[in-house]
Amino acid sequence: SEILGLRDVCYIYGDGHAALRNVTLSIESGSKVALVGPNGAGKSTLLLMLNGTLRPSSGTVLFKGEPMRYDSRSLRDIRKSVGVVFQNSDDQLFAPTVEQDIAFGPLNLGYPREKIERYVGYALSYVGLDEHRNRPPHHLSGGEKKRVAIAGILVMEPEVLVLDEPTSNLDPATSEEIMEMLDELNLYGKTVVISTHDVELAYRWADEVVLMDGGNVVRTGTPERVFADP
Ligand code: ADP
Ligand code: ADP
Repeated sequence: SEILGLRDVCYIYGDGHAALRNVTLSIESGSKVALVGPNGAGKSTLLLMLNGTLRPSSGTVLFKGEPMRYDSRSLRDIRKSVGVVFQNSDDQLFAPTVEQDIAFGPLNLGYPREKIERYVGYALSYVGLDEHRNRPPHHLSGGEKKRVAIAGILVMEPEVLVLDEPTSNLDPATSEEIMEMLDELNLYGKTVVISTHDVELAYRWADEVVLMDGGNVVRTGTPERVFADP
């Protein structure tokens, strides 16, 4: 069934630039979706619609069939269900230690300390960063930083993981590790949505490809169909 949907969504930035043009899209629960397209296609803008960070200029975003609401309580709920890792995940890491960084979301929601410690512990070991728990995040490698950012959303137990260009600036082996981690999370039932420039990666990894250009969704379907010669 559909977990997230866009219906006729347009998004116009403050300077008048139309970044999304009548985008209609359906994301199936439990799927692995890759948004593919050149720079400026609208991928990041679309991803930011999925947890309410951006609100459509017109059209509707649906979560589990319900139109998304933008009051602070609804936004808090959607951000628990849909975790977003930004492209430059370094910008997302600002606490003095890895552990404190991962604890940021649950602290913000006022979870009890005992629960926070337990969840942070699970998330740290899941991403393999136990030994680095007391280090400053900015001292870590690119792949480790990406893992911290992923742990920081896993700790919220989201149903959907959204990652903007998760492999940008990572070497091939590290990219592969990150994508394998996303595969494993998908096997546990998470819906995973990424954006990427990397057609090879999308072909290999995704169940569903969304090809974008100039703010439009040009094609959607299995990688085989989307990348077939027209
Ligand atoms: P990418 O294409 O890799 O997602 P972008 O160049 O689109 O990166 O965007 C990088 C950052 O700059 C984003 O935070 C985006 O919101 C911002 N940005 C991009 N284009 C503009 C623009 N024309 N005016 C203001 N900010 C922009
Ligand atoms: P992509 O992620 O596919 O590179 P984006 O969603 O980042 O695409 O950007 C889509 C279009 O919107 C681009 O033309 C970009 O320059 C523009 N854009 C992005 N962020 C901003 C912003 N903050 N202000 C104005 N224009 C922006």
